[in-house]
Formats: sequence, structure tokens, C-alpha cells
Amino acid sequence: MENKYEVVIIGSGLGGLSTAYILAKHGYKVAVFEKNAQFGGCLQSFVRQGVKFETGMHYIGSMKEGQILHRYFKYLSLLEDIELSPLDPTGYDIISFRDDLYHFANGHCNFIDTLSKKFPQNRKDIENYVNTLHQITNNSPYYSFKDFDNINLIDPEHVKISVNNYLDGISNNETLNNILAGNSPLYAGVKNKTPLYIHALISDFYINSAYRIVNSSDTIAKSLIKSLKKMGADLYNNATVNKIICDDEKAVAIRLNNGELIYSKYIISDIHPETLLNMIDSHLIRKAYRQRICNMQQTVSTFTVYIKFKDNTVPYLNSNFFKYRSRNVWDCETYCDNIWPKNYLYMHQCYEKNQKWAKGAILFAFMKYSDVIRWQGTTVGRRGTEYETFKTIKAEKLLAALEEDFPGIRNDIENYWTSTPLTYQDYTATKEGSTYGVLRDVTAPMQTFISQRTKIPNLFLTGQNTNSHGILGVIISSIITAGELVGRNTLINELKNMH
Ligand SMILES: Cc1cc2nc3c(=O)[nH]c(=O)nc-3n(C[C@H](O)[C@H](O)[C@H](O)COP(=O)(O)OP(=O)(O)OC[C@H]3O[C@@H](n4cnc5c(N)ncnc54)[C@H](O)[C@@H]3O)c2cc1C
Repeated sequence: MENKYEVVIIGSGLGGLSTAYILAKHGYKVAVFEKNAQFGGCLQSFVRQGVKFETGMHYIGSMKEGQILHRYFKYLSLLEDIELSPLDPTGYDIISFRDDLYHFANGHCNFIDTLSKKFPQNRKDIENYVNTLHQITNNSPYYSFKDFDNINLIDPEHVKISVNNYLDGISNNETLNNILAGNSPLYAGVKNKTPLYIHALISDFYINSAYRIVNSSDTIAKSLIKSLKKMGADLYNNATVNKIICDDEKAVAIRLNNGELIYSKYIISDIHPETLLNMIDSHLIRKAYRQRICNMQQTVSTFTVYIKFKDNTVPYLNSNFFKYRSRNVWDCETYCDNIWPKNYLYMHQCYEKNQKWAKGAILFAFMKYSDVIRWQGTTVGRRGTEYETFKTIKAEKLLAALEEDFPGIRNDIENYWTSTPLTYQDYTATKEGSTYGVLRDVTAPMQTFISQRTKIPNLFLTGQNTNSHGILGVIISSIITAGELVGRNTLINELKNMH
């Protein structure tokens, strides 16, 4: 292992890998250090009894030629390695609410037409909603590729309105207002806290087009790693960073678990900011900053059941199924045991285009970290029988909820496996196993904003806790972070001139 680099990146999630890609492309000597055996963070997958499961990236949007993610994928040379399977354009998401099904269709006009069939009196309201989403996206330079002179990443107006406040006023039809928030598990929305812009950027992204990644989202990590190696970057797995060594003015090195020191001119962290701060004892990090980061609320975690079906029994569902079991789509992250799960999200895994039968599926419900806190400190596979019983009880409850909507499905399940907030915490080191990192809050917009820069001049942050989560949010975070070294205008010109 070399012990001197120009840029060291801690963590090989999408944020770490894409930041590394941009910097390596600009000639920096980069090394990525990953604590796990598998690179990719939330892009990791695993195989059980021959079935491959994704862990944290299940579908992506805006991937038609010319659309925003397609442009970023091109920039990151991802297009040739990633095979996509379009979700059903007449209903890529299905929202099951109060005993009825509502389809989200691709394309602004189709989205409006499809929902208007269910809410004929509210066509104008649905049009206004779609236009607002589009306007928010359009006003954000990195999401629209327009007006890069605008220094605001997001229009300040949309940072201060909560998504539920906005949607409550969208129409006089309470069901419609709920349905429009039906995809909130994609951002773990919290009533009166989650800003409208988070909902808008994600919803508009999928309305444009929506796809599953054939044979799992780990292909994204593999493609970036292939490119990085070609460009001469070094990647180390099983390499946990446990300390940032600083002198009086800057960071000078990272220390690995085995005690090795790796010196670097710049250090970029893709890990949860609180975890990072716990590795730094420099006076350059002020107490107030530390306290702010450590007091931030996290997005809620999830309990997941990974299902293997018996061969040729369950037709492939080419839509994502969002179920709400109560009268309201909000507050699903707060529950007592007897009403869990209040909602769930069910998705089939895609192994080939035009797939006929489902082999694997993922079934999620929100789960609070406090539900598993008593097993904190234990390690994967060694948490004890009580924990195993807890997981079985939860899985059976979640499967019973699924069976209400898909009668008989239990008979088609050959086997299943589960994960809890502790699993996510162990695999990605995200605080409390939170699904999408820190929670943005309209009541404290500045306190819940995390800049790429830190008070240590050569230490930067990247990944979902900086800009926003998800494939697009994280890629944009890496462009902003890499821009700190390469120069913002250089990157913007490259992006603008890409055809
Ligand atoms: C259940 C779930 C479903 C999701 N579904 C989707 C989806 O369908 N579409 C979508 O766009 N987004 C989805 N997301 C969000 C998306 O996956 C994330 O926002 C994104 O992948 C986060 O990337 P990241 O690089 O910021 O962080 P991470 O992926 O968390 O990467 C951080 C990396 O740092 C490593 N690390 C931590 N500590 C250390 C250390 N001390 N030393 C070395 N390495 C360390 C971790 O092991 C990890 O590899 C989902 C997320 C989850 C959890």
C-alpha cells in the first residue's frame, strides 16, 4: 500500500466513488478507503440461494437520452456498463391507499391524465402540482443544467415550505393530497419538517422516466471502480479509517485500523459526518459545529424482508407498490408495536429485460432505531436468539400485511432473509441505520444544511448528507465537492458542453 496521495477518499459509496472518478479524470492521484469487503456502500448487493438482492438502490429516473441522470451517467462513463429495464410507464409507482390503487405514469402529460381519471374535478390542481415540481427542478442549476450563475442550489422559497403544507393546499380533495405524497418513503418524509424541494426533485426525476437496473445497482459501483482503476486510482477494501491526523492548520493523514498512516494533500469524507467528527480532535473543528452535526435528527431506518420466490409462481411486477394501511400517508415513522407496519414498499428485483417471473423481491417498512437499540454493540450474525425471534416476528407481520394485498403470496415464498436498522448501521456506518442520512428540516433550514467545506481547509465532505440523497442528489454532491479542488467553472463547462 502506498502511503502518500494527493487525495484520499474515506468511504466507497456512490459519493466517494463518483468524487474519486471526477478527480482522477482531472489528473489527481486518488485513493479510496472502504471499511467493508464489498465496495459501494448502499450500492452493495448480496446473494442468497442463488438470488441477488440490492440493499440500497432499487430504481432510478430521468435516464432517457437528454434527461438529467442520463447526462450525469454519460459524464461518469456509466452508460456502457449499466443495463436498464423501464418500469411500466403507465404506473411505475402504484399507491395503494384507502382500498384503491393510484398509478403514477411517466411523462408530465401522462401523469396528469392518469391521475385526473381518478380525480376528474381536480385536473387543474394536478397540473399545478406537476408544474410546480418542474419549476423547482428547473430553478436548480445542477438539476436542470441551466443558469449555473444562480448561486442557490435550490430556490430559498422551497427550502422553507414543508411538503405536507404545500400538498395540503394543493386541492380540496384530501385523498388526492395524500396520494401525491404517496412516494414519501423515497425520502423518508416527516410531516412539518421535510422541505418541499426534496419531494419535488425526487418526484420530477421519476415522472420523467423510471427504470430498474438489470442485475442490481452494484453494477454502478463496479463500473466506477473499473474506470478508476484504468485512470490509476487505488482502491482499498477492508480498510477502516479511524482517525484524521491534523496539524495546527490542516489535515495531514488518515489512520487505518491497523495503525497505518496514509498522508494526503486533501481528504474527502463520504461517511456520515458525525462518524467523521468522532475521528477528529483538532481545535479547527469548533464545538458549535460539532454540536450542530451531532444533534441533527436522522431520517428513519427500515426493516427489510428479502424474499426468494418458488420458480415461476409470481408474475414479475413492473411497478413499485407503496401501501398505506392507515387513513393518512404521513406519520408512518411513528408507531406503536401493535400498529406496525403503517405502510410498506414492495419491489421485485430485475435480472433481465422483459422478465416474466419474479425470483426475488424486497419488502420494506420504516423501523425506528430505538426498536433494536437493546442489541446495539452486537455484530452481524452474533446478535443472539432474542434478536432472531424479534426479526421473525417483524417479518411475519410485514408478510401478513403484504398478503392482504397479494392474497396467497405466502405460498409462493421459498425462503426469506431480513435486515434491521442495525444491519444498515453496520454495513454503511450511517448513524442509527438511517435510510437517507440527516433529516432536512424546514423549521431549521440552515442548521440541517451541511456544506461540502469544513473548518479544516483541506478536508471536504461528499455524499448524501451534503447535497441530498439518492442517485442524483449524491452525484451532484460529488460534482460540488470535486469542484472545490478542480474549480466549479471547469466542471460546469464540461457538463454544459457534453452532448
Ligand atoms: C434501503 C434504501 C433504499 C434506497 N433506494 C434508493 C433508490 O431506489 N434510488 C435512489 O436513487 N436512492 C436510493 N437510496 C439512497 C441511496 O442509496 C443513497 O443516498 C446513496 O447511495 C448514498 O451514497 P453515499 O456515498 O452518500 O453513502 P453510502 O452509500 O452510505 O457510503 C458510505 C461508505 O462509507 C463507508 N465507511 C463508513 N465508515 C467508514 C470508515 N470509517 N472507513 C472506511 N469506510 C467507511 C461505508 O462502508 C460505505 O461504503 C436508498 C437507500 C436505502 C438505505
